[in-house]
Amino acid sequence: MSDRTREDAALGGAGYRTPDARGYYGPYGGRFVPETVMPALEELERVFDDALTDDAFLEQFGSLLADYVGRPTPLYRARRLAEAVGLGAVWLKREDLAHTGAHKINNTIGQCLLARRMGKPRVIAETGAGQHGVATATAAALLGLECAVFMGSEDIRRQSLNVYKSRLLGAEVVPVEEGARTLAEAVTATLRHWTERVEDTFYVLGSALGPHPYPRVVREFQSVIGRELLAQFDEHGIGTPDAVCACVGGGSNAIGTFHPIVTGLGEGERPLLVGAEAAGEGLDGRHGASLAKGEPGVMHGFMSYLLQDERGNPIEAHSISAGLDYPGIGPEHAYLHDLGLVRYEPVTDEEALVAFELLCRGEGIIPALESSHALALLPRLAVELGSDAVVVLTLSGRGDKDVDIVREAGLGGG
Ligand SMILES: *Cc1c(COP(=O)(O)O)cnc(C)c1O
Repeated sequence: MSDRTREDAALGGAGYRTPDARGYYGPYGGRFVPETVMPALEELERVFDDALTDDAFLEQFGSLLADYVGRPTPLYRARRLAEAVGLGAVWLKREDLAHTGAHKINNTIGQCLLARRMGKPRVIAETGAGQHGVATATAAALLGLECAVFMGSEDIRRQSLNVYKSRLLGAEVVPVEEGARTLAEAVTATLRHWTERVEDTFYVLGSALGPHPYPRVVREFQSVIGRELLAQFDEHGIGTPDAVCACVGGGSNAIGTFHPIVTGLGEGERPLLVGAEAAGEGLDGRHGASLAKGEPGVMHGFMSYLLQDERGNPIEAHSISAGLDYPGIGPEHAYLHDLGLVRYEPVTDEEALVAFELLCRGEGIIPALESSHALALLPRLAVELGSDAVVVLTLSGRGDKDVDIVREAGLGGG
C-alpha cells in the first residue's frame, strides 16, 4: 500500500474509498475464480452499479426492508445490561427483530432483487448453519424465484430445523458429500454448480466475502444498519458514542455497521470500532480467529487473512456459534484491520456463553451465540473506557436457533 493510500484511508470520510476498480481493498479481495465465471461476475458488477443509481430499484428495496423486514430496527437502551457490565450506557441495534431473526435478510432480498433484474429465474446459495439458506429461501419465496441451497451433509444432519424450514419455504436442499461435509465444501460445490448454470442462475452469497464484486454488494445491502445507526445517534441524543461493536464471522453485519461510520464521520469524530472474532476453545486450541492467528492467502475466490496449515491449505475453524465458524474473513475487514481503523478482538466460547446468559436474564432478550461474542466485549470496554462510556452494539440476531447448544453447555440448569 502506498503512503498516500494509507493516509487517505486513515483520514476516513472522503479519503476512504474501497474497493478499487479491480476489487481490491489494499492487498485483499480480488477475483480468484475459473474463467467460466468471470463473465457472470462482470455482469453482476454492471447490473449492481446500474441498480444503485436506479431510483425505482432503491425504492423497491427500501420498501421491502420497511414493510417486509420491519426496518428500521430499533436502537434500544439496555439499562440493566449497562449497569451489570459497568458502562454508562449500552445501546443495542436490534437486528434480532428483523424478519427471520437476523440481519441476513437485508442482503438476500437485495441480491434476489438483482437476480430478477438480470432476468434469472433461479437462485442458489451455500449455507453452513442453515441461516443463510433460510434467509435466501425466504427472499426467493417473496420474489417468486426458484431456490436451491447447497449444504454439507454433516451440516444437514446437525441443522435439521433450518433444513426443514428451507424446504417449507419451497427451496431444494442439495447435500454436499465431499471432504468434511461442512461449509467450506458447500461453498466450493456452489461455485462449481454456478459455472455450469450461469445462464439461468444467480448465486446469492451470504457474507461480505467471495470474489469481487460480492464483498461490495453485501456491504452495500447491509450498510442500511450503519446508516440507520447514524440517524438514530441523533434521534436518541447520543451524539457520538465512545465505541461501536459487532461480531465478525465473514463480516457482513459488522461491515454494514462500520462502513457508514468510517466513511460518514471524520477521524476526530469517529467512535472506537471493535469487532469480535471467534476464539473458540482459546487461541491455542480450535478457533475461528482469522485475524489474530491467520495469514494472508486465497480461498473461495478472494485474498484475505485465512487460517491455514504450513502448506497453505485452509484448516477447519471452530466456534460454539455456527455463524462464526469460518476459517476466513471478508477482505474489507482485513484492510480495516491493517489500517488500524477497526480493532478486532478474539472472544472464546466460554466468554460468549457468559454474555449470552447475561442478556437473557438482564434484559429478557435471548441473543444469537454470534451476537453474544460482541456482548462479551462490553466488560472489557468498561475497563478500558470507564464507567461513563457509551457503547453501541449490533445485536446481529436472536438466539432461538441456539437453545439446544446452550442447553448442552449447561445453561439454565441444562
Ligand atoms: C450468519 C450470522 C453471523 C455471522 O455472519 P456475518 O457475515 O459475520 O455477519 C452473525 N450473527 C448472526 C445472527 C448470523 O446469523
